[in-house]
Amino acid sequence: MKKKNKNFIYKKIIKDLNENKYKKIITRFAPEPNGYLHIGHAKSIYLNFQIAKDFNGICNLRFDDTNPNTIKKIYVNKIKKDILWLGYKWNSKTKYASNYFNKCYKYAIELIKKKLAYVEELSPKKIKKYKGGLFKKGINSPYRNRTINENIYYFNKMKNGEYKEKEACLRAKINMSSKNIILRDPILYRIKYKKHFRTKNKWCIYPTYDFSHCICDSIEKITHSLCTLEFQNNKFLYNWILNNINIKYKSSQYEFSRLNISNNITSKRKIFFLIKNKIIKKWDDPRLMTLSGMKNKGYTSKSILNFCKNLGVSKQESIIDIKFLENFLRKDLSKICPRIMGIINPLKIILTNIKKKYIIKMPNHPKNKNMGTRKNFLCKEIYVDKKDFQIKKYKKFNKLYLNNIIKLRYSGMIIIKKIIKDKKLNIKYIKCKYLKNKKKNNKIKIIHWISKIDLFKIKYKFFNNLFKKYNIKKNKNIKKYINNKSIIEKYGYIDKNIFLIKKKFFQLEREGYFIIKKNKLQKIISLKNY
Ligand code: ATP
Ligand code: MG
Repeated sequence: MKKKNKNFIYKKIIKDLNENKYKKIITRFAPEPNGYLHIGHAKSIYLNFQIAKDFNGICNLRFDDTNPNTIKKIYVNKIKKDILWLGYKWNSKTKYASNYFNKCYKYAIELIKKKLAYVEELSPKKIKKYKGGLFKKGINSPYRNRTINENIYYFNKMKNGEYKEKEACLRAKINMSSKNIILRDPILYRIKYKKHFRTKNKWCIYPTYDFSHCICDSIEKITHSLCTLEFQNNKFLYNWILNNINIKYKSSQYEFSRLNISNNITSKRKIFFLIKNKIIKKWDDPRLMTLSGMKNKGYTSKSILNFCKNLGVSKQESIIDIKFLENFLRKDLSKICPRIMGIINPLKIILTNIKKKYIIKMPNHPKNKNMGTRKNFLCKEIYVDKKDFQIKKYKKFNKLYLNNIIKLRYSGMIIIKKIIKDKKLNIKYIKCKYLKNKKKNNKIKIIHWISKIDLFKIKYKFFNNLFKKYNIKKNKNIKKYINNKSIIEKYGYIDKNIFLIKKKFFQLEREGYFIIKKNKLQKIISLKNY
């Protein structure tokens, strides 16, 4: 195992193994199938699956399907696909919390029989009120002292559908004045009549996440149950349940900080809000940090894993700059992308002294000869980018301007002779002279270009950050910070050779990395970190 991986969780596992606490390390990734996975989940996937790999253990995939109102089978399938795309395989069959509903029920009865659970009939509003707050003790419910038989009777009624939703629930009997509010008689079971996609109509009572999670973990003999920091206080409940039911193996929970990315959201709830409000259409929108959105934008799974590997695991909440993530993408793409020339803002150039066409061989990758070469032409009419042109000389930028010399990449040098404008004084084209025997010096700028013979008209699509604000983690009104210019489309030119080099990803020289999508070129990322 690499030294780099020695975060506090790795250290704990190594200690546990040295003390012979476990024979085999078993982790699990336990998503709720109520949306697509995002980059935050990738951190958790990497952590759980990589631990299993590094310690010769196993990692289960278990869907937390305890809330029939929010879960959907399509999300199950999508989540599985995304994990496989990242390159991980889970241990044996896919697991579900619903596999263990019978067992959870049995443990609920056990708690009732031990006088550690009771059927509550206060309204949700009253339950909340009785709970108190940080500086206010809770009040015992009038239903708290029901006898075992009463509780068995009412719990049975709950199970048989004799209550409406929210009319009753099962609560643990712990301590209504506990400093940890989670321990103020937490709800273990609630009534829901929505049909479950696996158990259909078998149940109308469902265990809560808190009640089911520790039981599922322990049944599967998970050695290290990893979750995010917001569950830190729930750990006491996790252990309370396991200590009060008759279960041989007791799992342990460890918390690490959530991943937040600048100018983005990593919360299914917030993404759902954007979809519901029609701000974005789908979960796989390339502007989202969902794994399928990122894949659509052109992210490689390798770059995401490398990012996760370098993130570090701690208990410190922070925001990771999107640029940090993008660096890993750039590194990966630089290796695998053939180079090509594309003009995003075309400007016509007439090379007055060129009469015929010349063949020019260009390498597809400056460092990798195996990627081969492509055949291009130089002729009288070529196109460069408007960005490389300016009418007057400006000190800092060595652009095209009258009488200045510039070099065409993989070809010769040109000098600007005349600017031709239309009636509205817009530049129509530029007349230049091709300098055949001129030697290049370091001061001469090299620009990209395409000849008329090689060009193909193409639509360019650019994505910008979905949010204008760097940190929107804590903002409630996320709508306010939406970047209205998050998608820009433009028509430009591309070297036709792009269709001969049968690849998906390209680096457009001096522009950045692009992915080809149905004859459209979509920008993945810039060349440099600006
Ligand atoms: P969300 O807030 O986006 O709905 P969640 O925690 O409710 O996320 P789950 O499907 O329950 O989503 O999460 C599965 C696992 O992924 C959990 O262990 C959770 O802690 C972890 N996870 C979710 N979001 C992040 C994140 N931003 N960073 C790290 N881990 C995360
Ligand atoms: Mg959730």
